[in-house]
Amino acid sequence: MSSASGSSNTHGSVRTRYCDCGVESKLATCWVGDNAGRRFYGCGKYHVYGRRMCGFFQWDDGEGNARERKVISGLIRKIEVHKKNEMYLTRCCVIGWGLCAALLLVIVMLLVKIYRTKARNERE
Ligand SMILES: [Zn+2]
Repeated sequence: MSSASGSSNTHGSVRTRYCDCGVESKLATCWVGDNAGRRFYGCGKYHVYGRRMCGFFQWDDGEGNARERKVISGLIRKIEVHKKNEMYLTRCCVIGWGLCAALLLVIVMLLVKIYRTKARNERE
């Protein structure tokens, strides 16, 4: 059996779009802000360095995208919170180590001073 039944397999296929330059527009995903995870069509020359772009832009809002977008933007927000916490901890750590180093330096200087006065007293 090798009969291809009809042409009903176009479900979910990506429609080819062309930007104003006449270049095939590729589907890309947005990774910033509330639109994170949302897909869009941009100028086909976007990734070609040194070429002029036409500024073509079109969101691709397929079904199920809204939920995906919500999840992804939530995850990105979580990552940002973690990054902020990490930065705060790193700063605290740096300050803590700085204080430790300063304290150690003071102790060493005091010890040197004590040692020197002791040596001078022994010489006299
Ligand atoms: Zn273009």
